[in-house]
Amino acid sequence: MAGVILVLNAGSSSIKFETFELREGELTSQASGQVDGIGTDRPHLRAKSADGAVLADEALTAEQASSVDAAQDVLGAFFRRHETVDLLAVGHRVVHGGLRFARPIRVDEAAIEAMAELTPLAPLHQPHSLAPMRSILRRRPDLPQVACFDTAFHRGHGDIADRFALPEWLYADGVRRYGFHGLSYAYIASRLPALSPRLANGKTVVAHLGSGCSMCALDGCRSVDSTMGFTALDGLPMGTRPGQLDAGVVLYLIREKGMAADAVERLLYHECGLKGLSGVSNDVRALTESDDPRARLALDYFCTRAAMAVAELAAFMGGLDGLVFTAGIGEHSAFVRAGVARRLAWLGAELAADANERGDGLVSSPDSRIEIRVIPTDEELMIARHTVDLLGLR
Ligand code: AMP
Repeated sequence: MAGVILVLNAGSSSIKFETFELREGELTSQASGQVDGIGTDRPHLRAKSADGAVLADEALTAEQASSVDAAQDVLGAFFRRHETVDLLAVGHRVVHGGLRFARPIRVDEAAIEAMAELTPLAPLHQPHSLAPMRSILRRRPDLPQVACFDTAFHRGHGDIADRFALPEWLYADGVRRYGFHGLSYAYIASRLPALSPRLANGKTVVAHLGSGCSMCALDGCRSVDSTMGFTALDGLPMGTRPGQLDAGVVLYLIREKGMAADAVERLLYHECGLKGLSGVSNDVRALTESDDPRARLALDYFCTRAAMAVAELAAFMGGLDGLVFTAGIGEHSAFVRAGVARRLAWLGAELAADANERGDGLVSSPDSRIEIRVIPTDEELMIARHTVDLLGLR
């Protein structure tokens, strides 16, 4: 079957998209872009083709992107202009699949309702993923849609990885360590057999370090543990989130500082992490270029916590064969990779300095006991693959 698969990744104020051509079972990226600033007075449409040519770079009026529905119209017009007419299906990224969704599903009214019930588990993300599904279902009920979950890849976790040390009734209620970034980890796991049979068959920690950060312990390409738990606040420090935090801090904020839940949420999602620690930026590029000692503190904190998390996951698996860096920071910051690897030298990790600077493929030295790689992630391609597979389009 030939045609186009559209992948949508909707956030709080943006819809990112990528289109893939499906031809003879192969998926090839055609174009990608986003409408950002939805609901603000300065929305913008950007798009480029797979070879980097700019297809759109347009300021939109506030009315044109006042809501996700309106932004869908902008995207629809863009697709028509670029003759994306033979649309076969749409694949969506959904952050939370809860207990119920351990694999991708076909979207219909009932599925949207079931996904909406998970909103309390991902209040900042879930409603945004569902808005474009509803909009497309209303406009194009004939167009197949597939929902792909960031939690699904981790659903096979055993009891210890899946639980907090909380009473059973909370576990039964769904308060569990779900883990996120599963589409990224599934993509990396799909690449490992061809890139490194040792890592594919062995014990590998994948570090997804982007604006959100987590790590996944892969044993034979299967997720056995992750640093993220019930929500995307857990685990590693991130651009604007603190990562693992003494729950007593939250009680203190509520009791002593009189902060309401919304204010605590805003603080924890938007004002902490690299941004909060440095007071300079949430962006690793800006921090590595800054002379401010707090920027250095934030980077040292980040690398130290990341190295500690690798060791923790290695202890969980009872060994470590490989470490893979991926996402914005993992793929592009030689400084962070070096900072993490240096703190794991006692485990036998050693980078090849030149390869690390280039950031290509294998970046460990031949003597390193742990194989260290940089593998660019591709969550959109993973969603397109899931969509094609679930709908039997190959
Ligand atoms: P992502 O969410 O995967 O797009 O990652 C975004 C983050 O990657 C940004 O906030 C930056 O901190 C980081 N990043 C992107 N490019 C670079 C770069 N060239 N060097 C260092 N960090 C980068």
